[in-house]
Formats: sequence, C-alpha cells, structure tokens
Amino acid sequence: MNSSIRKPCLHTRPFDAMTPGSYHSIGDFYKKNFGTKPKKIPVSIADDCPNRRGLKNMETCIFCDVWGSAAFPEQRNLDLKNQIQEKIEYFNKKYKSSTFLIYFQAYTSTFLGVKGLRQSFEIALGFPQVKGIVIGTRPDCVSAAVLDLWREYSRKCFFSVELGVQSFFDSKLEFLRRGHSAETSIAIIKKIKQETDVDLGIHLIFGLPEETDQEIIETAKMISKLDLDNVKLHNLHVLKNTPLQKLYEAGQFTPMSLEEYAPKVGLFLQYLSPKISVHRLAALSSRWDELVAPSWTRHKMETYQFIINHMKAKGIYQGQLYGLQERVPSMHSL
Ligand code: SF4
Repeated sequence: MNSSIRKPCLHTRPFDAMTPGSYHSIGDFYKKNFGTKPKKIPVSIADDCPNRRGLKNMETCIFCDVWGSAAFPEQRNLDLKNQIQEKIEYFNKKYKSSTFLIYFQAYTSTFLGVKGLRQSFEIALGFPQVKGIVIGTRPDCVSAAVLDLWREYSRKCFFSVELGVQSFFDSKLEFLRRGHSAETSIAIIKKIKQETDVDLGIHLIFGLPEETDQEIIETAKMISKLDLDNVKLHNLHVLKNTPLQKLYEAGQFTPMSLEEYAPKVGLFLQYLSPKISVHRLAALSSRWDELVAPSWTRHKMETYQFIINHMKAKGIYQGQLYGLQERVPSMHSL
C-alpha cells in the first residue's frame, strides 16, 4: 500500500463565522481535508454483537433491527472485496465519485477480533480509490489490542472511529437496553483521545422518553469538553421487528414529531463547540418498508430543511452559546 497518498493532512477544524441556520457539517470537514467529499461505503463484516449474543444478560438494543443497523444488509452474502467493488462501481457510475471511505458499520465490527479486522482493512485499502477507514463499535468493545490496531492504521490512512454512545444518561441507556453505562463511554473516549490520533466521533439518539432541554445542553457541553471530532444525531424511531415496536404498539412509546425534534437539534447545536463537525441532523430510514414511525424519518431532505428553517427562524447557529458558564455538566465529572 502506498500510504503516503492516503493520509490527509488534517486541518484544525474551522472556526468560521456562523450565520443563523449554519453548522459545521462533516461534508465541510471532508472537503477541507480531501479536497472533495468522499463517498462512504457501508460494509458488513460482523454479524453479531454482545447484546444479541446475550453476554452478561444483555438484550438486543430496543431500536435495533435484525440487520444490526446495516445500510445494505443484502450485501452480506458478498465477501468484503465484492461489497466494496460493487459500491465503487455504483457510486462511480451514478455520481462520478472517485474517492471513498470504507465504513465498517453493521453490528459490532470489533467483535470480529484483531486478525479479522486487519485482514478487512487490508482488503479495503487494496482499492487505490479508498482513502480511509471508518469503523463503528460500542464503547465497551474496544480492547487494548484493538486500540493498537487503530493506532497503526491511523498512521497509514485517514482512520475514523464512530462510537455508539447514544446518551450520556444512564436512565436513557437502560431504556435503550444498551448494556453499557455513560461512565464506560466517557472512559473509553478519554482513552482513545489520549492513546491514538484517530478521528473520533459518537452517535447520539434524541427523542427519548422524559428527555429534558437541560439534558440536551449537558450533552452538547460534554461532547465539547471531551473534544470529540464529530457527532451523528438520530431521532429515536420505530422499525419493524424491534423491541421498540412492541412498546409503540402498546402505547408505551410515542415518537417525537418533527416540530418537537427540530428545537432539540437547534438547542444542541447552540451549545456545541463550533470545532466539532456534525454528520447528520436526524436519522434516515434507508429501508422504507421497515419504518413504522414517525413517517417524517422517510424524508431526508424535507427533514433537513425543516430543521435548518427552524434554526434560521430562531436565529440559531452552532456554537452560539458554546462556552457559556451557566452550568457545567453535572452528571459526570470530566
Ligand atoms: S445497536 Fe449495535 S449493539 Fe445494539 S443490538 Fe444492534 S448491533 Fe447490537
């Protein structure tokens, strides 16, 4: 592998003047670092996770479908090389894309073990158009050996980790049946930051029962203080054949309307450091036939525009209230 052409010179995140409705998007970050917005190719190499296996009496996360959040579950029948080849050809034909990141997305990729991960990374980087690796995992599935591997590959290529933190509040994590605590998430984030230079992001879910504005603010402050590189936002939505569907049908969970959700995103962004890039503002249901509710989760652009319009109307932008000393995170000491 010719590593020198893979490793972008990572710019310090910009602190551009923000205007109402604006935020620091991951697309901006990519363009600054790659000169273009690479296509992210989601692939499946794992088919299991601690929850599904029932380790330590854990249960499947309340929101997770049978595909372990894979974007293209039908790909699972292909080996990794063919998964990548197929998507490169597709994106190249449809969008003329020539720069790609391989996203090890489905289930818990680090469950595969270091040997399997290394083989998978080598297969991915065997494609000259592939400029980097993105790997998703849980906060409690990062061993010392996995950290070593990440450190090694982050010297060779753009290497990004997405941790499924989901919430920094234990009551919310219990509702989601995550099987890990907020403390576990904070500890591993600090460890990854201290011991590697991977690009580090987390996933969050908003729209949980009894969620307060103060929790949203504390979450934004927490992420800013942990100096994460990026964050991906999801609204809790109901998919078929999930534990959440049963709650929804029993009237024990009501998904948030877009009118309720947009102010949460705006509030979060106001308190978020402007250095942190944001992947997406809401969940997108890639398999429409699986979505039970809310129906607005089907419509990517309408949802995005609604949130931006809300921010513009309220004069909101990312980082607007960042650094305010009114209240530091009270649930966890950093
Ligand atoms: S969200 Fe991840 S950890 Fe939870 S059940 Fe699904 S694949 Fe497993």
